[in-house]
Amino acid sequence: MKSLVYFLSSSAKDLLNENLEPFLSFLNLVFKETRFLELIPYHRRIGIKLHFGEAGRNNYLKPEFVHQVVLHTGRKGLQPFLIETATLYRGMRQEAKSHFVLAQEHGFTLPKVLAPILFLDGKVGNSYYEIDGKKISQGLKRISFLINLTHFKGHFVTGFGGALKNIGMGLAAKGGKLQMHSVSIPHIEPSRCNACGLCAKYCPRGAVIFKNGRYLINSVCIGCAGCLTICPHQAIGINWDATPEELGEKIAEYAQVVLKDRLTLHFNFLFDITQNCDCFPKTEEPFMEDVGILASYDPVALDQASYDMVKPKLKSLYPHLKPERILQKAEELGIGQREYQLCPV
Ligand code: SF4
Ligand code: SF4
Repeated sequence: MKSLVYFLSSSAKDLLNENLEPFLSFLNLVFKETRFLELIPYHRRIGIKLHFGEAGRNNYLKPEFVHQVVLHTGRKGLQPFLIETATLYRGMRQEAKSHFVLAQEHGFTLPKVLAPILFLDGKVGNSYYEIDGKKISQGLKRISFLINLTHFKGHFVTGFGGALKNIGMGLAAKGGKLQMHSVSIPHIEPSRCNACGLCAKYCPRGAVIFKNGRYLINSVCIGCAGCLTICPHQAIGINWDATPEELGEKIAEYAQVVLKDRLTLHFNFLFDITQNCDCFPKTEEPFMEDVGILASYDPVALDQASYDMVKPKLKSLYPHLKPERILQKAEELGIGQREYQLCPV
C-alpha cells in the first residue's frame, strides 16, 4: 500500500490573508485522519521540531503556522515544546543563549507561539547520548512524541532540505553534525590559536596534544566537537569533506535513529522555496512560486512528494547533485517508502 500524503495547495500569503482558515481546516483534517493526537497519552510532552532561521534571513517557517499547531496539541492536554539544537558552524545558532535571542527576534516568543523553546543538546551543543555510534541530542531521550515542521527548500549539498534532514541533521548533537559533514577529524588553525590550552583541558579523549610549540589534534579524537565550542578564538576548523552522497546517506541514518520508537507526524511547508537552506545567512528570492503544505506519517513519501513538486526547477539549479540519494537510503533503511498517494484536501 502506498503511503498517504495529505496536500493543501496554497501560498503562505493567501493563507495569512485568509486568517489561516484553510490551514486550520487542513490541520483539523490531518489530525483527524491520522488520529495522531489521540494516540498520545494526556499531559505528555510533545516536541515540535523546527528551524528558527539563520541571522540575516527571512526565509523560514513563520511563527503564525507554528502557533496553530501548538494550539492543537494544547487542546488535547499535551505539553508542547519547540525543540532545536546548536549548529556546527559559527554564528548565533552555535550555542543556546544566542540561538534563543535569535528565535525571539524571528517571532518565536512564548506569547506569540504559546510554547517554550528547549535546546536539546545543552548550552553549547555538546550534550548527547549515543545509539549505534550516532551522537543524538541528550534532551531527545525525554521526548517520545514529535511533530516535525519543515520549511522545504533547496540545499547546495543535498539538493533539498526536507523532513528527513530536519530531524536527521536537526536533532543530532554537534558531534553528530560533525560526523555527517566530515569524514576526518577537526584541526587547529595555527594563525588563530593563541595556545591557551583550553581545548586540551576539555577534550574527553586527550586528543589535543602540545607538540613542537603548538597544539594539535591527533587520531584518538572521537569527533565529539566539544573543542569547537570551547575554543574562545574559533581556531578549531572542520574539514567539510563528506561527499554529497555520504552526507545524504548519513542524514538518513540519523533520521532512522531519531524516529525509532518515536511517534512522529511530519509536515513540509513548500513556501518561500529558495535555492539555499535556512542556515544561509541572507534573505533570498524564491526560485519558484509557493506550492502548499504536505503532511504524512511517512517522511520518505513526504519528501519524495515534495521533491517531485519542485524537481524540474531544482534540477536546473543543481544539475550536478543527486537529491534522490537521501530518499533511496531512507527507503533502504526501512524508514518509509518512496511510493505515495497524494490526498488533496
Ligand atoms: S572533537 Fe572532541 S575528541 Fe576530538 S579533539 Fe575535539 S574535544 Fe577532543
Ligand atoms: S582553545 Fe583554541 S586558542 Fe586555545 S589552544 Fe585550543 S585551539 Fe588554541
